[in-house]
Amino acid sequence: MIKKLIPDYYFKSVYDIPYEQLYEQGIRLILTDMDNTLISYKQTSPDEKLFKLKERILNIGFEFILVSNSRKKRVDYFAKAYDIPYVKFALKPLKRGIKKAIKLAKGKYNKNEILILGDQLMTDTYAGKRCKLVVGLVEAVDKKTDIGPTRFNRRLERFFLKRIKKKMPEEYDKYLKSYGENII
Ligand SMILES: [Mg+2]
Repeated sequence: MIKKLIPDYYFKSVYDIPYEQLYEQGIRLILTDMDNTLISYKQTSPDEKLFKLKERILNIGFEFILVSNSRKKRVDYFAKAYDIPYVKFALKPLKRGIKKAIKLAKGKYNKNEILILGDQLMTDTYAGKRCKLVVGLVEAVDKKTDIGPTRFNRRLERFFLKRIKKKMPEEYDKYLKSYGENII
């Protein structure tokens, strides 16, 4: 299982991703988590910076779809405000929500053309790997704002990060070191 917790990329934030390069490498669809990936749990209204990022991503030629585990109204609110197609209550790390999102894109992409972005190993990374997608792990926007179930996942995360560090030190150093720095 721990192999499925190792992302293909680590990015400091969604603003630090070389999108043009990923497009050149063949990525066409970006699935993204919402809370603590695009915005913090605390954010209550849309901001210009993210709207511009979305525009940039679309202009490069990507499709961009939100896949959130949250079932709250805020997912509908933000997705509509930013005008991003979305799947809520996605139940990552189950495959269901991700499959639904891929269907939203009319299933026209191969798995190696799909990048999934998220701030949690136990949900986003694991779900992406289970679906055999390309996985980008990002640093949480504001970890202090994590809510109940996420805090539980963070504890699991710490446990697995330690195991990966011990059993697969090269992979840990390459993909997880920065992420794990403040965790273990
Ligand atoms: Mg998240």
